[in-house]
Amino acid sequence: MEKISVTLTKNLKEKPKGPDIPFGVFTTDHMFLMNYDRENGWHDPRIVPYAPFQMDPACMVLHYAQEIFEGMKAYRDAEGKIRLFRPEENFKRMNSSCERMSIPQIDVDFCVEAVKQLVTLEKDWVPTAPNTSLYIRPFIFATDIHVGVHASHTYQFCVILSPVGPYYATGLAPVSIMIEEEDVRAVRGGTGFTKCGGNYAASLRAGEKAEEKGFSQVLWLDGVERKYIEEVGSMNVLFKIGGKIVTPALNGSILPGITRKSCLQLLRDKGFEVEERRLSVEELISAARDGSLEEAFGSGTAAVVSPIGTLYYKGETFTISGGGIGPVAQDLYDTLTGIQWGKVADPYGWSQVIC
Ligand SMILES: *Cc1c(COP(=O)(O)O)cnc(C)c1O
Repeated sequence: MEKISVTLTKNLKEKPKGPDIPFGVFTTDHMFLMNYDRENGWHDPRIVPYAPFQMDPACMVLHYAQEIFEGMKAYRDAEGKIRLFRPEENFKRMNSSCERMSIPQIDVDFCVEAVKQLVTLEKDWVPTAPNTSLYIRPFIFATDIHVGVHASHTYQFCVILSPVGPYYATGLAPVSIMIEEEDVRAVRGGTGFTKCGGNYAASLRAGEKAEEKGFSQVLWLDGVERKYIEEVGSMNVLFKIGGKIVTPALNGSILPGITRKSCLQLLRDKGFEVEERRLSVEELISAARDGSLEEAFGSGTAAVVSPIGTLYYKGETFTISGGGIGPVAQDLYDTLTGIQWGKVADPYGWSQVIC
């Protein structure tokens, strides 16, 4: 494994105080970089002072959006040790995003090691208050200076870190969701299964419309028939219908969430019947009408589990779990956050102490 060089900053930033650190505002003192070109492959891995990139206006990413990212967290446990949650899964998924976006593959173990070294250097930035964490954002973008459509021959890999407060200020809280009927996020054959910035760019308009109407996020339908449930904004979605757990199957247009995968494993191990399949919005709405829709919740790294209290579709609002938090969502939240912060037994080996 290539050695990671370290250049320390002389100007340490002031760290945010208090538990309520807003998401995505603060960044730490250092970042990890490496570069790709055809002669050298991925090379020059280095930890350097956090600083802006200098960019040529013809830099390819600015025009053709050849860019992907990941999102994960470092958690401080009761003993003050720092932990990661299934980091290999993030870099395996990054490689699957790379493959779809014609970006060269990265070495999963090396990238996990780079994150460990960067987080260890910045360990004082992992906040201490309950349910706070250090958000880790790896990303790769095309750097050829060329206004012409082709896959770039050069790339920048970067990892930045951002301390974040608890997602829920006052404990797990239900959200209201609007089912989007016009815009679609992704189609099979497209990039829906990748974490690429372009997917988010396409989702912003519907997100704004939902916010204007007072909903916190959008539930997407499939891009062909607008008939089948896909996922929520930046979360996968799971339902409890007639005692069974139902979630849309990974069909190519849905992001394969690591929280989703972890939830499904926990649910199966708790004895639930789990169905990964196509779920039509009609089936969901009729289950909401006849009372068999017992719970609905999103899953993702940021919120872990996000109970859906109300669903809006074609002018009607449906209340789920009495607008509160269902027992399955609560139990998953407690188990997953317990494992992440090292508070409960982790028979899966998902939580790794790094320093
Ligand atoms: C990141 C993301 C998720 C959740 O994935 P996790 O690995 O659980 O954080 C779900 N949907 C979309 C569109 C995402 O970008």
